[in-house]
Amino acid sequence: MSLELVAEKSEKMINNNILEYIESGAAEAATPQEILTWGIENFGDKLALSCSFGAPEGLVLLDMMHRIDPASRVFVLDTGRLPQATYDLIDRVRDRYDKRVEVIFPDAERVQTMVRNDGLNLFYESVEKRELCCRIRKVEPLNRFLSGLDAWVTGLRREHSSAREQTAKVEIDRAHAGIMKLNPIADWSREQVRDYVQKNEVPTNRLHAEGYPSVGCEPCSRAIGPDDDQRSGRWWWENSEIKECGIHLEERGSGI
Ligand code: SF4
Repeated sequence: MSLELVAEKSEKMINNNILEYIESGAAEAATPQEILTWGIENFGDKLALSCSFGAPEGLVLLDMMHRIDPASRVFVLDTGRLPQATYDLIDRVRDRYDKRVEVIFPDAERVQTMVRNDGLNLFYESVEKRELCCRIRKVEPLNRFLSGLDAWVTGLRREHSSAREQTAKVEIDRAHAGIMKLNPIADWSREQVRDYVQKNEVPTNRLHAEGYPSVGCEPCSRAIGPDDDQRSGRWWWENSEIKECGIHLEERGSGI
């Protein structure tokens, strides 16, 4: 999709200044704080951070955004299958930053029908059923929430996986009606994330200390060894090289 077409579709949210910023490539040379400041100035309360509370990247960005604007928004998708450690962290963050975390739930009717038809642990049975569960518990609630925004912030890093190698720091999110997607630490290394967390005493998920590089839903995450691929603790029973729940994929028709 050309920038002109996106501009036509999203005239209200993407003005010429924003298009110029994207086309100039200025974001590539900008610091995360500069990108976040740009996002807050251009989108205000129509911008929100997506934080899983299961990886340090989202917490780093939450800390940065809060320093720039204490009223900045953050949301988490509560699939109903998150570990207690993640719920505890959400409450710790609420207290530490005095911040209202927006907790987004899946549609109860959709979850009930899925569980009635395929059981509570359907994700172990096939890739299709795992994708169905991710779609109902994550992708659909995210799509609903993003339909009310003009821009969102993610903690995606290029190092995470081959599927994320091409991640731009600022991009038009074609999978979500052409809103803006900011990935301010796309070029950061794991060490940079760790250093920021330590220096700024950013709260993180206690399961990292038990070998979980990222913590997703409890039945679909496990600890890994120090030399294992960073995404290998997710959906480990599947062979696919692309370990994604669907919220960051745009090319496939279903969004998964
Ligand atoms: S990660 Fe597992 S439990 Fe969570 S939504 Fe996806 S399949 Fe369902």
